[in-house]
Amino acid sequence: MEKLLNELSSECQPAYGVECDVAINAQVPENLKRSIPLGLPNIAENDLLRHFTNLSRKNYALSTVFYPLGSCTMKYNPLINERIARNDAFNNVHPYQPIEAIQGVLEVMYELEKDLCEVAGMDTFSLQQAAGAHGELAGLLVIAKYFKSIKQKRRKIIVPDSAHGTNPASAAFAGFEIVLLKSEPDGSISLDKLKEVLTPEVAAMMLTVPNTLGVFEKNIDEISKLVHDNGSLLYYDGANLNAVMGIVRPGDMGFDVMHINLHKTFSTPHGCGGPGSGPIGVKSFLETFLPVPRVEKKKDKYVLNYKKSKSIGKLKAFFGNFPVILKAYAYVKALGGKGLKNVSEQAVLNANYMLAKFKDKINIPAGNICMHEFVLSPKTLFKNDIRTIDIAKRLLDYGYYAPTIYFPLIVDEAIMIEPTETESKETLDKFINVVNKIILEEFCRDPQKLKDAPINTPVRRLNEVEAARKPILKWE
Ligand SMILES: *Cc1c(COP(=O)(O)O)cnc(C)c1O
Repeated sequence: MEKLLNELSSECQPAYGVECDVAINAQVPENLKRSIPLGLPNIAENDLLRHFTNLSRKNYALSTVFYPLGSCTMKYNPLINERIARNDAFNNVHPYQPIEAIQGVLEVMYELEKDLCEVAGMDTFSLQQAAGAHGELAGLLVIAKYFKSIKQKRRKIIVPDSAHGTNPASAAFAGFEIVLLKSEPDGSISLDKLKEVLTPEVAAMMLTVPNTLGVFEKNIDEISKLVHDNGSLLYYDGANLNAVMGIVRPGDMGFDVMHINLHKTFSTPHGCGGPGSGPIGVKSFLETFLPVPRVEKKKDKYVLNYKKSKSIGKLKAFFGNFPVILKAYAYVKALGGKGLKNVSEQAVLNANYMLAKFKDKINIPAGNICMHEFVLSPKTLFKNDIRTIDIAKRLLDYGYYAPTIYFPLIVDEAIMIEPTETESKETLDKFINVVNKIILEEFCRDPQKLKDAPINTPVRRLNEVEAARKPILKWE
């Protein structure tokens, strides 16, 4: 176990580099000077450097290991885009600068909006939202305002059980009532069941495509017709657009509102709650309700338009998480249309390659073909009290970040894997071999090892909930 800095501190070890400059010290008035020492730990500079470097190495990161996390995946995040986001020309601007001085920033936003329209087949985008769920909320508020404007009382949102968990949460937050639609065993939507719940009170149906089983909804055209014939709108959860870019467009399939997670598909690594960006795209009849300010182009000048009387208002300070927007802009411009299509093809190919290698050995609830990710249910193989969590913990011993487990909720003992578009065949093969080894050999031969895992990590198996239930918030 690594010691804390306070534990490493020694009275007789002077720490270099933090001594106050004598000349500055002389200028500080006597009454403002510290009467007791600051209490910083005394640690030699090299020990301090080693302490933090060693701590950082105990972490799992995309830059050190394969990260097969399903659903909320970190996809292709070129490092060059991090450099671009740190460029002084963008990094030192302030949102209170006059509009003439931030023309470059507004141009990036204006251009990215147009590019996202092209990718998604929507008429216009708003970049303000800070996350996928924030985008959902914005989209649902737009839908609510639209129905209010045409004086229709519709307070229900249909959400299939194969949708991402944020969908029903956002709908509830936006004041709607949720109608849960049970999906078929292969994760698709039954048109008959949909007809049963499509009442005049339904404002919209939210679809996660591909859904959380990694399946593309085969009945989209029919669903779109049924929903629109009912006077309702169709919402596309496009958090994981790396499965379909350049191949199909939500706008062409009849979706009226959608969100994209720039921090998944468009080059921002994520974790620990941010920063993110969840742009929403809408068809032109909904544009008037989008959040303000809108970036507009008047002759050759970019302006911010706050005067939109029907807008749902402002959802975030200033104009959104600009560095994330900038990275997405650089990503789209660097890859171009062909490159984005290639991303999707590679993402789907990699996932299907892995799925094919598992399909004879492990139960796959949603069939043998997937989009960018897939779900395994190894339950039928379980012996000796072994469960999915034991497989995930054992993978840590082999140096992997564990895949998503126990999600989606509709699959028992789920393991959800997304290899992403940029991993090599060699990396995938190694991982497949390790999973098969754990499931086929260690399950039978060495069950206790799985129960004890992880064995090689800095800390062993932790109580998953203790830190939340009994937090220690004070240094004694
Ligand atoms: C990640 C994800 C979301 C939520 O995005 P956040 O940025 O975490 O709020 C919504 N839908 C799907 C399908 C996702 O994968």
